[in-house]
Amino acid sequence: MAQRHSIPSRLSEEDLAEIESNPPEWLVQSRANRTGKKPVWVQLTCSICGFTEAARPKKWWPPFTYLSCNHHGYDELPEPVEGLVRKELDGIGSRFIGIVDAPPSAG
Ligand SMILES: [Zn+2]
Repeated sequence: MAQRHSIPSRLSEEDLAEIESNPPEWLVQSRANRTGKKPVWVQLTCSICGFTEAARPKKWWPPFTYLSCNHHGYDELPEPVEGLVRKELDGIGSRFIGIVDAPPSAG
């Protein structure tokens, strides 16, 4: 049913979707290189008092469940969900402690 010799637009959209959902290695590489040149900033926000600051994320930062200023007490944060183990990481940004609640198997 193709009326012209040009590629039907539907096909290219599907192709794009396919590339997005399953990007080839060269595309992942080029995107990683592109973002690697620019410093990426994240907004750190205290889960207790709302103090916020922008910081460059470090490679070793895991996804934090909570962030807390280093002067808050343990009891100011909610308890970890049952079955999860709480870990704390000092030295996040200028004054934060990173709280990670994760299953014990995650190490
Ligand atoms: Zn705080």
